[in-house]
Amino acid sequence: MISVAEAIQLVRENTVALESERVGLSDALGRVLAEDIVADSDLPPFDRAQMDGYAVRAHDVQDAPVRLRIIGESAAGKGWHDEMQEGQAVRIMTGAPVPKGADAVQQVELTHELRDGTVVEILESVEVGRSIVKQGSEITKAETVLRAGVPINAAMVAALASFGYAEVSVGRRPRIAVFSTGTELVNVDEIPGRDQIRDSNNYTIEAYARLGNASIERLPLAGDEPTSLARRIKKAAKVSDIVITSGGVSMGVYDYTKTALKDLSAELFFERVALKPGKPTVFGRLPNGTLFFGLPGNPVSVSVTFHLFVRTAIWTMQGRSDPAVKQEDAVLAKSVKGTKDRESYLPAQVFTNDDGQLVAFPLKWGGSSDFVAFASATALIVIPAGITNVEAESIVKIVRLPA
Ligand code: AMP
Ligand code: MG
Repeated sequence: MISVAEAIQLVRENTVALESERVGLSDALGRVLAEDIVADSDLPPFDRAQMDGYAVRAHDVQDAPVRLRIIGESAAGKGWHDEMQEGQAVRIMTGAPVPKGADAVQQVELTHELRDGTVVEILESVEVGRSIVKQGSEITKAETVLRAGVPINAAMVAALASFGYAEVSVGRRPRIAVFSTGTELVNVDEIPGRDQIRDSNNYTIEAYARLGNASIERLPLAGDEPTSLARRIKKAAKVSDIVITSGGVSMGVYDYTKTALKDLSAELFFERVALKPGKPTVFGRLPNGTLFFGLPGNPVSVSVTFHLFVRTAIWTMQGRSDPAVKQEDAVLAKSVKGTKDRESYLPAQVFTNDDGQLVAFPLKWGGSSDFVAFASATALIVIPAGITNVEAESIVKIVRLPA
């Protein structure tokens, strides 16, 4: 049995980044940047007024109130490009270039126009530089704004647009094929008969995969039969970067996933992880290079193992620099129990308290089959192997679940 950290490391080491592709900026949200974003101009591109008012020489208005002659107007997109002399002012709008010769902008509220707009009275003095954003003060041309490897969020879109990235290079979406094993399963649109239940794992895996940009195909339910299982895995692998199955990886008589993998001569990187829930998780590679995850059958185990392992592979394939889920510290609100030989991941809700500290409230749940309780979890509390009891108020590690 290997640790969760070792298993995540094995996923990273054995997952190859996919090629990149170019997408239009409107389609880039959430995708992983595959190129550095470089400024193609200074920002601001010129000394820019930050207020509506008058461009002045600070020295001219140090004994305000003083009157200056208005000799022009500089608007956003239509600047005034002569040189301003002593005793002069230029009417200026927010976003407009500050004329040469001016070294401050006095806001319009502290001014007063006279004589049909030919003269302005500046009511208060201003210091040099006031309300001017200097050229290049935000970024200078050729500087790197964003590095390859980050997922593009909404706030980054402005940078991409401003520097002319109508198209941007991103990691290709992984193609995933998923199917469930289990003779007891029926499809979601069927009424379960005696001893049967509806398949939920295929849909859960589809949902998580979509959050990671993957395109995913749900294949028909596979039952529990080793030769057809091998055939199905092989067929699915032909058209996908990752094949995921659920169920059939435990020690039961009808757990055939590993048998099928051996028949296919798959390389297995791990098949047992010191993790609760999720111990029998399988990770390997099929002879054609497609990765394989055999997740346990229980619905909560599926969520936990996807979040820890499959997610890591999906983001690694897209070139993300931090593909694995990150741990944070939180204060435990109620005592919890761990497990002797495995790291436990317990469903919880996390909140930020008035001191800005994360607080984790463990949820009451009935174990790895209890997807109803799990549905209200926003995070998982991580309890290291060997720690059987953790008191309330202790600092624990948590990982957040996707919203
Ligand atoms: P297994 O690992 O195949 O022994 O399955 C463990 C438990 O998970 C059993 O109670 C199964 O009925 C349940 N299970 C397996 N596959 C699914 C699925 N696709 N949807 C919901 N429950 C499942
Ligand atoms: Mg089964």
